[in-house]
Amino acid sequence: MVQLDFLEKNVIKSVKFVRKTFPESPKFIIFNKSIMAKHPNIELDTTTVFKSIIHMFDVLSNEEECRKHLEKLRWNDEPICPHCGSQRKEHYKLKNKGVFNGLYKCKDCRNRFTVRIGTIFESSHIPLRKWFLAIYLFSSHKKGISSIQLHKDLDVTQKTAWFMLSRIRYCFSSKIDFEFDGIIQVDETFVGGLNLNKNKSKRVAKSQGRSVKTKTPVFGMLSDGLVYTEVVPNTKGATLKEIIRAKAKEGSTIVSDGWLGYRGLSKDYMHYIIEHNKGIFKKDGYHTNGIEGFWSQLKRGIIGVYHVTSPKHLHRYCDEFAYRYNTRHMSDGERFNLSLVNSDDRLTYKELISNQ
Ligand SMILES: [Zn+2]
Repeated sequence: MVQLDFLEKNVIKSVKFVRKTFPESPKFIIFNKSIMAKHPNIELDTTTVFKSIIHMFDVLSNEEECRKHLEKLRWNDEPICPHCGSQRKEHYKLKNKGVFNGLYKCKDCRNRFTVRIGTIFESSHIPLRKWFLAIYLFSSHKKGISSIQLHKDLDVTQKTAWFMLSRIRYCFSSKIDFEFDGIIQVDETFVGGLNLNKNKSKRVAKSQGRSVKTKTPVFGMLSDGLVYTEVVPNTKGATLKEIIRAKAKEGSTIVSDGWLGYRGLSKDYMHYIIEHNKGIFKKDGYHTNGIEGFWSQLKRGIIGVYHVTSPKHLHRYCDEFAYRYNTRHMSDGERFNLSLVNSDDRLTYKELISNQ
């Protein structure tokens, strides 16, 4: 009898602790709007999609409205305890001087929590309104926004603005385990190291083109309108092909330029080589225009807005532009809501400034 009690208790417990709101891998929804819309557990449609920044501020006129909007998106109005994962409407609402302002107490594990815990907003003194404005500006501007601009727009210090942008960028990073299928364009490029802008004495000789002396190589794949990028140590065949084999389903069609590093792909894939150096840019309808268009967007953004080309942070900028590219068919308001759904993962200042 005692044993049965014990069993019952634990079965009930385990059922109760299942998180209902989030899909298995929330990051995945970034890449597929239709899945997001159809996902039974995320009802973005029931939440206001803002038409503009002004519209957002009309509706989210104070901190409480911002909190409610975030709760709706992340919990679907049924609080999830971040300590034990229990989701239920019955979690206690704790009041401070008779006013409830988003502090809950878990009915199961008895710990306290707010919707900010486990998100980029956790233990931040910056009001949600400023965060939301930053996210809206960041995700709607085609080329992003610099910390200098954000510091002026938000009336925060530039250090704070830089940290906010880093956090926002971090939670948009593509940590998705997905597999490309069908026709896949692959290409490599070199970012940064603008020799022309450098002092003559600091210029590195023969750094044009493929040199990694001053530029950082980035590899990219594009299929079905979705892009994936990775900062790579070099553009050797072994490096690039390892990524291709990990991300592209066997039997898919790979389209690349004539770079020697791609030799040997035809063993596992249909491989179309478009020999740009011979003036060919299309072969049987296959081309690499998509990924090349993405590269030029990335470079224009990094050079024009950020003026940054530090290899250490380059992967974040690549992720940022990939995120914007992959959600380009969404409205600004939809992308804003999606960003809030994905606002988990917190990057501390210490982690950010340490070497990665
Ligand atoms: Zn709990």
